Amino acid sequence: MPRCRVCGAPASYRVPWANAWFCPEHFSRYFERKVSRVYERYVPRSVERILLAVSGGKDSVAMLYASARVVGGEKELGVLFIDLGIPGYSEEARVIVEHHAHRLGLPFHVADIRGYGFTIGDAARLAASGRLGRPVCSICGVAKRYIMNRYAVEHGYDAVATGHTMDDILGFYLAGLSSREGLRSVAKLSPYTGGGEKLAARIRPLYFLTDAESAMYVEANGLEILGSKCPFAPRRRGEGLRLTIKEALENIDRRHPGYRVMLARTLADHVSGILYSALGPGETRRCSICGYPSSTDPCGFCRIRLRIHRLLGEKQDTGSRHP
Ligand SMILES: [Zn+2]
Ligand SMILES: [Zn+2]
Repeated sequence: MPRCRVCGAPASYRVPWANAWFCPEHFSRYFERKVSRVYERYVPRSVERILLAVSGGKDSVAMLYASARVVGGEKELGVLFIDLGIPGYSEEARVIVEHHAHRLGLPFHVADIRGYGFTIGDAARLAASGRLGRPVCSICGVAKRYIMNRYAVEHGYDAVATGHTMDDILGFYLAGLSSREGLRSVAKLSPYTGGGEKLAARIRPLYFLTDAESAMYVEANGLEILGSKCPFAPRRRGEGLRLTIKEALENIDRRHPGYRVMLARTLADHVSGILYSALGPGETRRCSICGYPSSTDPCGFCRIRLRIHRLLGEKQDTGSRHP
């Protein structure tokens, strides 16, 4: 039976790249140190109010608890749940996120997509009938990014923290390297990305932690997470480039432990900065419908929203007030 490297108690959690075993308590300390490193080293002191975007899945729940334990005493934290109107899924997720927010004594916010005149359930129906011309997951992704930013801006938060793990980030990284447009997104892929007018900063507290580690953290702390998967999530086959990259990197890591961590460190400390200096901030326009910053006009979210309204065959609305 392996023993915890710190206290010698029976250990059940292994961190392969460090060749270390931990008991539940010391695994949690290891995990929180990694999160603490992101906040201390990358997030400016001027960032005081942070909105933690939590979906109820393992990664965002781990991000929530580790953030609350690491910076709960010095930053003002709030929890944001985005109700996407996914039948039989959003309701269950909301109950779990609300429970965790209350347990941690943090303000609980809900941004309901219905305030924009549609739900992801509507979008899924339209996408399935082929009338949207794009998969529902891409619409959902655009909607989540837009809504979390707008909610943070309208409620005076300096930054939004998300539960993206090292696996997610390296997937975006390598996928982004394959196109000129993608390079611009890689330039912004650091543990902290500054904001601007009507643009909240972004924090990625799990930047140096894998999916497997966030699953272990949730288990070690007995945290309740959403049991069901999103009914619209694509099946394994054909899940796209980022999943292929993730599996390939896991394979490399098995044979060369620590490879992913090194990749993430050079991205955080060198590559993103070098690309940013070379490419500049890029042109930022304003969406003429909603007024939020975007590289296109109208912004991606307004275009989708108006198209869905048209297909749903009615619905008023021009850049309506946030719910
Ligand atoms: Zn221990
Ligand atoms: Zn817009």
